[in-house]
Amino acid sequence: MSTPDCLFCKIVAKAIPAKIVLENDHVLAFEDIRPMAPTHALVIPKKHIVGIHDATPEDAAVLGQVLLAARDAAEKLGLGEGGYRLVINQGDDAGQSVLHLHCHVLGGRPMAWPPG
Ligand code: 5GP
Ligand code: ZN
Repeated sequence: MSTPDCLFCKIVAKAIPAKIVLENDHVLAFEDIRPMAPTHALVIPKKHIVGIHDATPEDAAVLGQVLLAARDAAEKLGLGEGGYRLVINQGDDAGQSVLHLHCHVLGGRPMAWPPG
């Protein structure tokens, strides 16, 4: 289920500290260590999935949990009214730097479109 060398699996295991926003049996939301917006959290499945491209139909329920937790984290962080952006970076061209699936929750300022 967890991968010993994975940074985010270590955060799930509480072996590395993080500022936790919310947690349930399936997912964990915590503040990003290098925020790119006034509010920047990450939502991850507790199960080690490398990225969205590696997810399988068996992961459908946990992927739904990630999106619902991203919504709940955004609300908890005060973004419900102003809005927010959810981002999943997949692979090199998208700049994915941690190989454990994560959904960015970004808000607190207007977001440009198209993204960089
Ligand atoms: P990616 O670039 O893979 O889409 O996003 C990885 C994110 O993880 C980055 O925004 C980065 O700041 C964040 N990050 C990397 N290491 C840590 C850490 O040790 N703790 C926390 N809370 N966030 C991290
Ligand atoms: Zn992992």
